[in-house]
Amino acid sequence: MYNFTKIVASIGPKSDTRKTIRDMVVAGADLFRINFSHDTGAVQGRKIDLIRDVAAELGKPVGVIVDLQGPKHRIGDFETEEHYPLKVGGKFTFDDDPAPGNSKRVNLPDKDVLQSLKVDDRILLNDGKIEMRVESVTKHKVIATVVRGTEIWSRRGFNLPDTEVATSPLTAKDRHDLEYAITKRPDYVAVSFVQRGADIAYVRDFIARRSAYPIKIIAKIERPNAVERIDEIARAADGIMIARGDLAVEVPYEEVPAITRHIIRTCRMMNRPVIIATQMLASMVDSEFPTRAEISDVANTAYLRADSAMTSEETTVGINPVNTVEKMARILSYSDKDTVANPYDWSRVDNVPENDWSRSVSSMAYLNHAVAIVVFARDADAVAQISCRKPDIPIIAVCNDSIVANQLCLLRGVSSIYDEQLFGMRDGFNTARRFGIHTGKLVIVDDEKISLRTLD
Ligand code: PEP
Repeated sequence: MYNFTKIVASIGPKSDTRKTIRDMVVAGADLFRINFSHDTGAVQGRKIDLIRDVAAELGKPVGVIVDLQGPKHRIGDFETEEHYPLKVGGKFTFDDDPAPGNSKRVNLPDKDVLQSLKVDDRILLNDGKIEMRVESVTKHKVIATVVRGTEIWSRRGFNLPDTEVATSPLTAKDRHDLEYAITKRPDYVAVSFVQRGADIAYVRDFIARRSAYPIKIIAKIERPNAVERIDEIARAADGIMIARGDLAVEVPYEEVPAITRHIIRTCRMMNRPVIIATQMLASMVDSEFPTRAEISDVANTAYLRADSAMTSEETTVGINPVNTVEKMARILSYSDKDTVANPYDWSRVDNVPENDWSRSVSSMAYLNHAVAIVVFARDADAVAQISCRKPDIPIIAVCNDSIVANQLCLLRGVSSIYDEQLFGMRDGFNTARRFGIHTGKLVIVDDEKISLRTLD
């Protein structure tokens, strides 16, 4: 099965064995996400080792994405584990007093948050089920009015859609996790709750100071200020994840599909791959079949010509992670074929400059009815440029660098082959044959040299 749209599978307690990882790759997983919000250090490192092992056994590039928790805010503990009642219109205080909370107040462990909140900002707790609005701010406390919600209890997570939090893009935990993760040489690091382009530059610098290994950075878009600054963030990052879980709490949920389309278009112009994440097949946490709505959501990833669809809980704690990947691959495979047969006009609108070489590659393929583009990939960025033109035929990338081969797993329509003996493109014919392409025109790309050859 050849998928244009790639699959990122999250690994968790129900999928962290060698056998399950192997079966997920065979079922269609192209990359794995290791979520450092849960475990840390060697527990996560072991998962990376298993993925590398499976990839070597199958002789197939497989990508690894380390996902950092980021500044996920939580309130402090309460006096008991009970739920404390809230009254709509009543007042509730957040402060810097570490004493356990009660029905009137609770500690906010993160001082940056206390100092960043302004009058009228919303505080959304427990996935938005509780909404409070800030009434007054003093040095040590914030008093808020309850707008929605009936009870509150220990360690609830919260989102601040109206607040620019003056915090480092890496928490102490992220620094610790990233220091470790770098030693395991992941292909991508995903940065959570990015607010601006400078956050990505900061993380890039953090990595560069510790390793020369060319890890690429994915910005997770889950805050309204990140949506507003998507151009600046996409320019600074190597890829984007539309993290719909937190995003749908922080922006009005009905805006998420429109934001998704906007981000995909922006990234297309900037040659950045896009992952659509969260609740893709959520019902498969405890069901063998997806809902009809989920099937459409996965299919839309292909129709929108995003690069990758991501699984979350359905493969971390679900009853059958392999079945989930199989179902996702099946939906994508069918929808990809349909996409290629019926390209949507909007996705053909190409705002890249006329003289952009990747546009020449794509138009040469299109005008000559080429069956594939074969490219010698010295780095992933040049291939991303071709992939972002969405040529709708397979892009076969030959790499003599394994990290490039792994990074390319994320890109729509790209299949990569790793061969350390290759230093340039010979004729591209054998490469195409390895992918089952035996006749037709090929566009061959080696650096910016582009040629058309016929395979028969
Ligand atoms: C999300 O919020 O959609 C997401 C992908 O992030 P996480 O799973 O790390 O919360």
